[in-house]
Amino acid sequence: MKTDIQIAQEANMLPITEIGAQLNIDKSELELYGNYKAKISLKFWDKIKDNKDGKLILVTAINPTSAGEGKTTTNVGLSMALNKIGKKAITTLREPSLGPSFGIKGGAAGGGYAQVVPMEDINLHFTGDIHAITTAHNLLSALLDNHIHKGNELNIDPRRIVWKRVLDMNDRALRNIVVGLGGRNNGVPREDGFDITVASEIMAILCLADDLEDLKDRLGKMIVAYTYDNEPITADDLNATGALTILLKDAIKPNLVQTLENTPAIIHGGPFANIAHGCNSIMATKYGLKLADYVVTEAGFGADLGAEKFFNIKCRAGNLKPDAAVIVATVRALKKHGGVSNEELDKENLTALNEGFANLEKHIENISKFGVPSVVAINRFPTDTENELQLIADKCKQIGIDVVLSEVWAKGGDGGVELAEKVVELCENKESKFSCLYNENDSVEGKIQTIAKDIYGAEGVEFTKNAKKKISKYEKLGFSDLPICMAKTQYSLSDDPKLIGRPEGFKITVRDLSVSAGAGFIVALTGNIMTMPGLPKVPAANNMDIDEKGNIEGLF
Ligand code: ADP
Ligand code: MG
Repeated sequence: MKTDIQIAQEANMLPITEIGAQLNIDKSELELYGNYKAKISLKFWDKIKDNKDGKLILVTAINPTSAGEGKTTTNVGLSMALNKIGKKAITTLREPSLGPSFGIKGGAAGGGYAQVVPMEDINLHFTGDIHAITTAHNLLSALLDNHIHKGNELNIDPRRIVWKRVLDMNDRALRNIVVGLGGRNNGVPREDGFDITVASEIMAILCLADDLEDLKDRLGKMIVAYTYDNEPITADDLNATGALTILLKDAIKPNLVQTLENTPAIIHGGPFANIAHGCNSIMATKYGLKLADYVVTEAGFGADLGAEKFFNIKCRAGNLKPDAAVIVATVRALKKHGGVSNEELDKENLTALNEGFANLEKHIENISKFGVPSVVAINRFPTDTENELQLIADKCKQIGIDVVLSEVWAKGGDGGVELAEKVVELCENKESKFSCLYNENDSVEGKIQTIAKDIYGAEGVEFTKNAKKKISKYEKLGFSDLPICMAKTQYSLSDDPKLIGRPEGFKITVRDLSVSAGAGFIVALTGNIMTMPGLPKVPAANNMDIDEKGNIEGLF
């Protein structure tokens, strides 16, 4: 069997100007990064802004397991299949982060015969957006430390700095550091740390901004520290906003690439799915909606985190109205939710599958709470048996949800025709009655309780003393009307990664909160959330190589 990268390297890519032409984007509106990647100019928006919007399709999934689900694969495959049945479709995706690529995950550009290309570029430096964000973020760190060193006119308390430094790498050794060592000329010593770039608030902002002006406005509002009197200090206070925006002037432009079947793909922005909202940029989605009849997009992790935030944060901010959702599940992952160990996953096990189905059922119920019609896509793996596939189909029918077998990984667009037809049918025949789950002006506690009870199925929420203190602080500072960004384990509907399947009778503990005032949400932290991942014992990086001709292997 060919690896993802072998398949990607055999792709017959078209020049990116031809992909643009499919969307009626003139050459002059594309900024080329080589032959196969381009940014779409910002002024092009004026030409398309009055076009009718296409249909917006969200691809989401059950709670992830180590067995893999295949959201991106399904997303890319569905867009190719839609094109195959004569619909003008675009896939919009997140940009992969280098940290996970060299760690466990490998690439994040789809899989098998449902990938976006040039796969190596997309997975590596791409068009430099993540580097630009790293630089902007660290410029603000430098300005902050310099301000303190040069007299600290703003009265910043060095122990109350909430702006860490960032790097797009999994590097646990940098989680907690001390800066400013070496004497008077080298700054004021203080504790600091690094997050991975995609966890930067600037990434979340880039993905929620409407345009350059909105980007600038949001950057200015970011809180970097508090004073000795506990007053917030923002990027504006440090006179940093203009410079930060300059560094992001190109990163804000959506990136155009193509699928293995030469259909258009816009890949732009990639915020963390825990402390941020985990979706590609609003601009990418909006450009897509103006350029195509169907836009297929994705939200990170399972539907309890990804879809919930896609609806309550991204759609609220961008005034987007999703028309349908595809819930991806695999036989393997459902068996894991039914308690099967990794070693036994390849064996047929109808009992465990039956048990694990409960996880899928909860996500189906959840999507309907937002008023969005949905279909289950079973992403077929080579090890699935006919009996297992039949069992899922029967159980879906019992609860009245459409279910389709997706074979896009093995067959590309041809393997997704049935799914594409079902999605078109949903969009044409079932009206989406989308609405957010809570009102912005509900109390902070109330909003968190709604998410925990309605989406996770929790009995209630416990707020630690620390969390309560933060909530009243944010109320005083006027942030209580912001939507909530839950930071929770992706592996369980609860805040305990070990509670797989569909747990009941549990409570969620909110132990801390933070405000992302520029992005425009309050992060509620449950459990221990890692904002700088580490590498595994054998990192993916160890199995990568490049030959003298420049051929890459091992990037999955
Ligand atoms: P997600 O977006 O949910 O994280 P991806 O689509 O990136 O998942 O897929 C994760 C990995 O699983 C990729 O390496 C991909 O090649 C593999 N994969 C996805 N679908 C299948 C399938 N049907 N059969 C075998 N491998 C698959
Ligand atoms: Mg993905």
